[in-house]
Amino acid sequence: RPATVGVNLDDLNEAQYQAVTTIDGPVLVIAGAGSGKTRTLVYRVAHLIENGVAPESILLLTFTRKASQEMLWRAGRLLNESCSRVTGGTFHSVANLLLRRYGGHIGYGSSFTIIDRADAEGIVNLLKSSLGFTGKNKQFPSKRVILNMISGSINKSLKLEDLVTEQYAHLTDHLDDIVKLEQHYQTFKYDHGLMDYDDLLVNWKRLLEEAPDVRETISRRFSHIMVDEYQDTNLIQADIVRLCAHTHNNVMVVGDDSQSIYAFRGADFYNIMRFPKVFPDCRIVKLEENYRSCQPILSLTNDIINNATEKYTKTLFTRIAGDLKPRVCGVRDERDEARFVVRKINELRRSGTPLEEIAVLFRSGFHSYKLEMELNTEGLDFEKRGGLKLTESAHMKDVLAFLRLLVNPQDNLSWNRIFLQLDKVGPKTAQKITAAIATAANPFEALRKYPAGGSSKQGIAKLSQLFIDLHDSGQSPSGLYEIVMGYYEPIFQHLYADDFPKRQKDLDQLKSIMAGYSELQSFIDDTALDPPDDSTVEGDSGGEKVILSTIHSAKGLEFDAVFVIGLADGRFPHGSAAQGEQWEEERRLLYVAATRARQHLYLTYPRELMTPDRQFRRVGMSPFLAEISPGLYERVESGGDTSGYYRPATRYEPPVLSNRPKREKKLTLKDLPVGTKVQHPFFGIGTVKKTSAPSSLDVLFDRHGIKTLHLDYAKLKIM
Ligand code: ATP
Ligand code: MG
Repeated sequence: RPATVGVNLDDLNEAQYQAVTTIDGPVLVIAGAGSGKTRTLVYRVAHLIENGVAPESILLLTFTRKASQEMLWRAGRLLNESCSRVTGGTFHSVANLLLRRYGGHIGYGSSFTIIDRADAEGIVNLLKSSLGFTGKNKQFPSKRVILNMISGSINKSLKLEDLVTEQYAHLTDHLDDIVKLEQHYQTFKYDHGLMDYDDLLVNWKRLLEEAPDVRETISRRFSHIMVDEYQDTNLIQADIVRLCAHTHNNVMVVGDDSQSIYAFRGADFYNIMRFPKVFPDCRIVKLEENYRSCQPILSLTNDIINNATEKYTKTLFTRIAGDLKPRVCGVRDERDEARFVVRKINELRRSGTPLEEIAVLFRSGFHSYKLEMELNTEGLDFEKRGGLKLTESAHMKDVLAFLRLLVNPQDNLSWNRIFLQLDKVGPKTAQKITAAIATAANPFEALRKYPAGGSSKQGIAKLSQLFIDLHDSGQSPSGLYEIVMGYYEPIFQHLYADDFPKRQKDLDQLKSIMAGYSELQSFIDDTALDPPDDSTVEGDSGGEKVILSTIHSAKGLEFDAVFVIGLADGRFPHGSAAQGEQWEEERRLLYVAATRARQHLYLTYPRELMTPDRQFRRVGMSPFLAEISPGLYERVESGGDTSGYYRPATRYEPPVLSNRPKREKKLTLKDLPVGTKVQHPFFGIGTVKKTSAPSSLDVLFDRHGIKTLHLDYAKLKIM
């Protein structure tokens, strides 16, 4: 191994070094949690560029946008800023990029709109009623089930008919209608320039298969392809990787089959096992040293996964000693659990663990409600990840509808939405006007000429004027936002009379996000592809925050201290995951959660849960916990009165200190001289390029380019 100059490869172990320095040909890195897979990718990006590969020729596919931003930032620190020119992102975001450019080859214009799940449900509903599949006695599957079927068949590469027969046997009476509905759904989207998330992948693959010239161009453009978390890709994604690499086979994928947690969405961890068959001359690298967790945590997590029916062939060891065994703790109920967690968080803080190094993980977004309340009471700030998205609520969709129409006037979902806002216009009328307008060559012109009758006449005229103003304004996205709000504000206050102040906060957040965009299309794409979390933080101090996260959103991350809550039978594993594959996926989910921890791991289970009809039900400990060898953890009691099961909950000892975190001083331009590295909640990491008094500054973001930000809105953190 030659002594290194430049990127310091001495920080790698032998196996990592082999993976990083293999510049050409296929490489598969298969290894357990915390063994440095992601780090190996980061070093490889830097090493490739150092060895003459152009950054633009590297494609780095990750599970979230944030992950790729962070990896490229780290690569940049190893080498230089050129790493930020690498194309990094999720499969979906890269699909979007390529389809806007080359979609013409498969019949798509460049101005298609990406729709989210709620939009898709809206379409299915519309079609259900227009096809006459509603009616009381029909018992036709709900829009939710229909979309699960459609999406399931695509992601698992199964025919819809086969999927329904196999997995929804009780609905086969409706098979013909389901298939018909699916066909209408596809046509509807195509006719109106809409793509759902699955379409992005399907169409990327189609583009590569059906347009040989484009396949050639893309494959030559991306001479080196890397994929993190390969165990959570589906068959379409594996095909995309194969097709993109067909001229050079320079692909490196890294993954861990024991961390596969997206089978429910069609991911197939056998993609990892198939990789050597697809790329026969591939080099296989296994990593065995864990650099994340101390020995007691690693022993416990190894035990969790050794209990799996699938035998994962990895052995992990660590050199990080530690005498603190993971804690398993039974608590009376969720309130008790919340108090226990908050008490421990306070203890950890007092002994020096920063709040953002503490994460509380759970199976579903709503499992943290009690805890959020308790944190609020105690004055501890938190950031919640993987729950509701900011743009999912009705008022946000309302505002986005206007903006979406400006880039895609055929987007009839948005037309329908804004007609419904009009006074005295019901679903029937809204649909009628939409039908008359959305298919016109110039929908705005059609709106202006629309022969509106009595009650809707005035509303239509106002709306028409709004679009004239928007088109005339030549404004940036935030200028357009102001014009839209001039129109929408009174409607908003009327529609949401009881809680509009709360909703106003969301709109303010949207506004500050928009302030960073110069192009409307990229704003709209970003909110659809990677919508910001609806962070429930009260008043954003920019200070330290505990991380609350679904396990799915904590993939790949690590923290000094981790709490996994809600480990009760029926909740985790979920009651519907009876046996077999789903059961095993839940086990891997727990494995992913527990392997996030470096030093401290707490596993808690309530003995009583509230059922949906507000009854209390006694529940046991999760079978996954019960299976762990008792010697591997220490039991602690919650400190509450666990014997007094039926007595009203008593409070724990009162909090010793009021540990309200000190508010961080508000940043001023003095704190942010040119060259400062900053982090923005939405744009990621960037460098200050220019400051202008009193409070505006230009920041160059890796992925978003230069943004002019205002200090009062931008919520920047110095890195
Ligand atoms: P996961 O499966 O959870 O995604 P991973 O295999 O991607 O984990 P990384 O996140 O890359 O693992 O690495 C885990 C931790 O170990 C990181 O803090 C990383 O910096 C550290 N690490 C990895 N390899 C080394 C090494 N050779 N020397 C020192 N630290 C290392
Ligand atoms: Mg990783």
